[in-house]
Amino acid sequence: MSENYRSMWTDLGLDLDAHDVLLGVLGNAYQETFLSQKARPEGMSYFDFVMSEVHGLRIKELMDEKAAGRKIVGSYCVFVPEELVLAANATLVGLCSGADFAMEEVERLLPRNTCALIKSSFGFKLGKVCPYLESADMIVGENTCDGKKKAYESLGLLVDNLYVMDLPQVKSETGRALLKGEYLRFKAALEELTGVPITPESLRKAIHTVNAKRAAIHRLLSLRQADPAPISGLDALLANQVFFYDNPERFTDSVNKICDELEKRIQDNIGVFPTGTPRILVSGCPQAVPNWKLPMIVETSGAVIVGEESCVGERGTRNLTAESGQTVEAMIEAIVDRYYQVDCAIFTPNSDRLAHIEEMVAAYKADGVIHYGLQFCQPYIMESIPVEKALEEKNIPCLRIETDYGMEDVGQLKTRVEAFIEQIKG
Ligand code: SF4
Ligand code: SF4
Repeated sequence: MSENYRSMWTDLGLDLDAHDVLLGVLGNAYQETFLSQKARPEGMSYFDFVMSEVHGLRIKELMDEKAAGRKIVGSYCVFVPEELVLAANATLVGLCSGADFAMEEVERLLPRNTCALIKSSFGFKLGKVCPYLESADMIVGENTCDGKKKAYESLGLLVDNLYVMDLPQVKSETGRALLKGEYLRFKAALEELTGVPITPESLRKAIHTVNAKRAAIHRLLSLRQADPAPISGLDALLANQVFFYDNPERFTDSVNKICDELEKRIQDNIGVFPTGTPRILVSGCPQAVPNWKLPMIVETSGAVIVGEESCVGERGTRNLTAESGQTVEAMIEAIVDRYYQVDCAIFTPNSDRLAHIEEMVAAYKADGVIHYGLQFCQPYIMESIPVEKALEEKNIPCLRIETDYGMEDVGQLKTRVEAFIEQIKG
């Protein structure tokens, strides 16, 4: 594919040599991690295609949209409401990066003890290898954790189109009012960017489009309650990752098609692993493309992942926005209600998340929880201790891991994960 897209990548200002290296690593990792799996649902071929064209055809589509006057908005967090972006005639793409790149340059700008996710977002900018970032007309940062909050001050010097959204840290009346105020400010910024005012009709349609996408992914996730699991955790994570990049309507159709196939598999008792395979819930930090390290370790160690309590997973997609509002004001209230329920560890206190993890363990019949923390991520690593304690009180085994995007600790992690799976098997 590369030859067809090279001039597009050059126009976007990418460093073609560095970009070739990235695509080579991505292609190999995909081959080894995904295409080597056994008994995959046929519908995953759609996602194989999307991934093979993730910097090609999808970027071409975005460039065509731009040529037709549409704007592209890049985001690093699930608090950025896609409903408002679509209603203002723009397209939202996820920018959260899941691989180390240009680390030497990154560590000249950020302290070494910054989480891999933040470093990666800088690495993709400094290394000039992300066509999503380069095609974005607006990049939205948000004041969530301290790392991101301060890093955006530096990112603002590297890009000329950064918009920073403030977010509450406490779920209170004041917190909700802040979120609503920020969504109204964001709406005005989008309208200014696109020159398109948000109307009741455009917002209603956008809410419906995003709800359909979330409903399709809910359907997929709920089918993982079956034993044997009809889809691997790796493939389900991939669908959750593509959620952030793909055209919304096409994504919804493709996920629903896979769900039809998985329902048939469940009827016929066909799984990707045998019945009775230990079932793991992964909880914690987001796993952005191409961060497939933990599921690869778990699913090559005799267990299956049946759910992700994560922003790239159920925390990010779980609630729908009420569709009953008739005015823009009423619809924005519904959007605030929906996003206000996201139980990110930046909130204090954050007991909803504990309750949700326990609900997910029950719903997905998980035998144990692996808490996934990125090194130096204070919110999630701090919160992993009360999570483990609460689970232990309910006799639910929990393994807390801290890692980064490097592959140096794979052997050590595999040993710990295998021991955990043995413990579950009892
Ligand atoms: S973990 Fe928190 S900061 Fe990160 S994407 Fe999720 S909501 Fe946003
Ligand atoms: S992983 Fe943790 S430290 Fe990193 S951006 Fe997310 S909340 Fe912040």
